[in-house]
This record gives sequence, structure tokens and C-alpha cells, in this order.
Amino acid sequence: MIEIPNAEKGKVVVRFAPNPSGYLHIGHARAAILNDEIAKQYNGKLILRIEDTDPGRVDEEAYTAIEDDLKWLGVDWDMKIIQSERLTTYENFAEQLIEQGNAYVCNCEQEKFKALKLAKMSCPHRNLTTEENLKNFEKMHTEDGWTVRIKTNLNEPNPSLVDFPLLRASKEEHPRLKNNVLTLYPLMNLSVAVDDHLLEITDVLRGKDHLTNTEKQKFIYKYFGWNEPNFIHYGIMSIGSEGKISKSEIKKGIDEGKFTGWDDVHLLTLRALKRRGINPQAIRNYMLNLGIKDVDIEFSEEALYFENKKFIESCFRHFFIEDPLGLTIENFPDMVVRFPLHKEHTYGFRTFDLVPENNKINLLIQKSDAEKLKEGDEIRLMNTCNVRIKKADTTTGRVIADYVENSHGPMVEINGKNGEKKKFHNIPKVLWLPEGGGIKAKIYCPERTADGICEIACKNLKENNIIQFETFGFCRVDKVKDNLIEFYFTQR
Ligand code: GLU
Repeated sequence: MIEIPNAEKGKVVVRFAPNPSGYLHIGHARAAILNDEIAKQYNGKLILRIEDTDPGRVDEEAYTAIEDDLKWLGVDWDMKIIQSERLTTYENFAEQLIEQGNAYVCNCEQEKFKALKLAKMSCPHRNLTTEENLKNFEKMHTEDGWTVRIKTNLNEPNPSLVDFPLLRASKEEHPRLKNNVLTLYPLMNLSVAVDDHLLEITDVLRGKDHLTNTEKQKFIYKYFGWNEPNFIHYGIMSIGSEGKISKSEIKKGIDEGKFTGWDDVHLLTLRALKRRGINPQAIRNYMLNLGIKDVDIEFSEEALYFENKKFIESCFRHFFIEDPLGLTIENFPDMVVRFPLHKEHTYGFRTFDLVPENNKINLLIQKSDAEKLKEGDEIRLMNTCNVRIKKADTTTGRVIADYVENSHGPMVEINGKNGEKKKFHNIPKVLWLPEGGGIKAKIYCPERTADGICEIACKNLKENNIIQFETFGFCRVDKVKDNLIEFYFTQR
């Protein structure tokens, strides 16, 4: 349960208010999920508010992408508001502030205004009469360069709180409105305060990065005599590698071909996490664990994987041989080997019928394993049998070995549970598959793309299935092609 001071069941109204400037990422998920949870836990309402009043920061694709990603996250909103459809509402409230004498219309050059502000002096427009300001407000509809500023306190210690802008006239075309005319766009503090008031938001839950905005919005509440909502600011969640969420870097990376799209395996967008097989409920649980505490924290991918593992642990196990190399074993006896699809569940088995020809069997092992081998080494083929290496020259593309009936590998001694000494053969275990009969596989991982062969039982896999490749990690089936399966790496 998220504890909200003075919250009443059935009366809570919260909102999630993203800017449609790109796709949602793990940082947005926190605000979305916590607000959604509050609405659900208190039988309240959640409003989705698309904050698109800065035309320079609008990406048309983002409108539907945001809704799709929220649905995937399990966020249920009761009402959707798009701010660009409400421009006249904000304009009217700005006009009322001018009429009250609490705002003025200014076209001072930015540098000049800034210098006056730092000197704690008012700009010439601040002292005009209400009538003169209303006349200038009219001019705003036809002339570029005007801004409505709220009157705060020239002596505010934080300069950003001094007479901050509320509304600006601009010819910038809005990608959604396709307006080719001078338009009055509100700045976020006006549109946020007006909408939070009109929509009767009871609790504004957002990050501490909005603390100054809250201070600004309180001026607007005060001038209109509105009741303030309950403002709650949770701590900042920093994301170590900013490039994984930064809109500009992602866009640039996509243009330059460094990323395949917004769902590229390297990213922490919700799309990328979905494609990798991260369960949305794992993201929710992670965010609920963080809660609304005001301490700053660092986002931990490991902690998210810990949550996610609970959802995928029981999936099927399979083998994948990366960069396969041939291994011929001589003097090999007939053998049927079975591996469980899961060690703790009775899902059944994958069976390999190993029938030698001329006493030889051909298998595949991973190049990285093969490269460690030298003549005379004894290795254990995973859960099967031991072989001794006869020819280890990997440049020929094939390692030759002999079947070993009784192991003679080097012995090592370890301390047992009760302090007793235990001896066992220290033999490296090597993953294998029969040569021929496997399926080509490609696994997109954050650090590399792994190419190889997966076992024949993978032929039953369907898109979105998650499996664990033993020793490799969990993977989500991304595409099943004619004779290739493409996976996205989920986690270790
Ligand atoms: N649109 C703002 C943002 O995404 C949120 C505004 C708010 O929560 O008040 O940062």
C-alpha cells in the first residue's frame, strides 16, 4: 500500500503527464506506475495528460507509442487529455492573471530581461497599467516575441522564480495541430497548474526534479485562490548510462545506424525492455519497492532482473552453441542422452540419440571452449561423458578426441560441508550438440550479437516464448524465420 497523507478512498484523482517527445523509458515508468497504483489502491481515478504545448519537443509517433507502452505496463487511465487541444483555456487564465494585475506582457530581449532580473529590477512592462497590458496582450495575437509573465517577487533568492513566463506567442508549427499561424503556447507551469486545478487533481506525485516547478505553480494557485493539491515529490532515480534513455542520443543513434530503433537491445526504453522479455509486472514490483520515498537512488538493472527472474525462472532449458566448431570423437559407443526441459519441473526431456558411424560421432562445441583445449586434456561433455583431446588445432575447424571410459582427469581436493576433505576430478565441462539437425540462431545481446546453433527442440518455439539457454542466459524469441530463430537477450 502506498501511504498518501489524508487520502480518502474513492476521492483520489491523480495524473500521469508525459511529454510526447519520445518513447517512454524506465524513468517514466516510475511516475506512471506509482500514480496508477495510487488510483487503484484508493479506488480513485487516473488521468493521462499529454503535455504537448512545446511544439519543438513533440514527436508525432510518441502519442500512440505512449498509450501502447502504458497498456503494456498495465496502467489503466480513466480519462485522457491532450493539452494542445486546450490552448484557449490556458490563454484565458493568463488573461485573467493580467486583469488581476498579477501578470504582464513583455517583449524585452531575453538578455536584457535577465540582466534586470539579476539586478532585482523590474522590466518596463511590469509597471504598465492593466489596460496597457491588456492592449499588449491583444498584440500578442498578431505579433511575434511577446510573453506573458507572472508577477512574483523581485527579491526571490532563486532567480528562476522571478516573474517566470506563462504564455508565449510563436509562429513555430505544432506537429499535431499543423497550424501555420502565430499561436499562443502556454509554458508548462501555467498549463500544469490550470489543468491540475480544472481536473480536480487531489495528489500531484512527481519527482524532486519538479520542486521548483511546484514553487512556481503555487503562485498561480495563490492568485486564483485555488486549493492546492497535495504535492508529493519522490527522490530522483538516476540512470547510470544516460545514453540508454536520452531522447536526443537515441534519435541520433537510430539515424546513424547505431541503434536498430527505439526498442534496440541496448536501451532502457519500455519498448526495449519488452522486446528483451522483461515482464511488465517485474517493472511494477521494482517501482513499488522504491515507493514514494524522497531519497535519491540509482536505477539498478540487477534489481530489475532479480524481480523479473521470478516470472521466467520456470521456462524451458535448451542448448545454444555460439560460434560452433566440430568435435569428432573416436571410439564412441552408442548412447541416448536425455536432458530435462527443467530440473525442478516435470516438463519432460530433450533426447539425443548418439549413433556413431565407424565408431565416430560428430558433435559441435563452442569456439571459445575449443580454443582453451590442448592435446591430452580431458573434458566433460555436459552431463554426458568424458573425452580426451587428440588434436586441438582449432584453425582446422575441427577438434579430434577419444572417448574416455574411465576418467583420469586431474584430482582436486576441496573442503566438504563438515570440514572433511573431498576429492574429485577437476574436468572442464563443455556444452555440446550433435552436428547436423540443429537450428541456426542469432541472439541480440547488449554486449554483442551471438551467432550459433540451437538444439532441434527449439523448432517448437513461438514468438514471445522465453527460454533459458544453459550457461548463456534467458532469451526471448523475437522472430521465427525459415531456418533461423532470432532471440533477444533477457538476462543472466
Ligand atoms: N510533463 C512533465 C514531465 O514529463 C510532468 C509534469 C508534472 O508532473 O507536473 O516532466
